[in-house]
Amino acid sequence: MADDAITGAELDALATRLRAVTDRIAAASTAAGRRDGVQLLAVSKGQPASLLRAAYSLGQRDFGENYVQELTQKAEALRDLPELRLHVIGHLQRNKAKYVVQHASAVHSVDSLALVEELARRMQGREVPEKKRAFGADPRLPVLIEVSIAGEAQKSGCPPAELGAVLEAAEHSRSLRPVGLMCVPPLTEDTGASRPYFDALARLRDEHGGPTRLPELSMGMTADFEHAIAAGSTLVRVGTAIFGTRQPRPSKDG
Ligand SMILES: *Cc1c(COP(=O)(O)O)cnc(C)c1O
Repeated sequence: MADDAITGAELDALATRLRAVTDRIAAASTAAGRRDGVQLLAVSKGQPASLLRAAYSLGQRDFGENYVQELTQKAEALRDLPELRLHVIGHLQRNKAKYVVQHASAVHSVDSLALVEELARRMQGREVPEKKRAFGADPRLPVLIEVSIAGEAQKSGCPPAELGAVLEAAEHSRSLRPVGLMCVPPLTEDTGASRPYFDALARLRDEHGGPTRLPELSMGMTADFEHAIAAGSTLVRVGTAIFGTRQPRPSKDG
């Protein structure tokens, strides 16, 4: 991934796409009668650091990354951007937790007790730097529990039956702060097909204390974010509609 500065024309094109996405988010929020804001996470996996820098110059602060090696590289390449917030949204192996706590403003893909424990242990004695804090000013690392809302059709995520225990473990740790739930519905051609899964995640949140305990619902991507907003999403993770197509995933990473 080359990190050459982008041209003026590329910056203009990025600004147009970013604006189009924020306009669509606003329209979907209005259509759903939502008064709370819906946050935009710009998913930058497979994109060069120069594109994140350009989006930052346009005012975007929150970016989603899937692979820990890429997260680390971008955090280093962009260390001069004080308010850059990198969110981990991809499946996370426990042995990568030590790198994540150095660079992440939030982790959306926490899916097991073991991962909660490892992140909590690695986060012990650390704080998220003040300008890097996502979801409020709390210095603990915000985590969202990724739920396998489609059941057996899904390879990653915490089974709904285990959610209570995972949430309690995160709450009892001193270094993590559970802020919500996340889901990635199975890929389909039909964008409306995700809606039942979004509704199911919202119901599951209501069964586990509702918005008071879990204010955030991280759901919706390029293909289906309007459906997610209708179902109550508070944060949409959008990559392709902002940055265009990306490089294929690296072969060895996690
Ligand atoms: C890649 C990815 C996204 C963004 O997908 P687009 O279709 O490019 O918007 C969102 N969430 C997760 C978990 C992803 O892996």
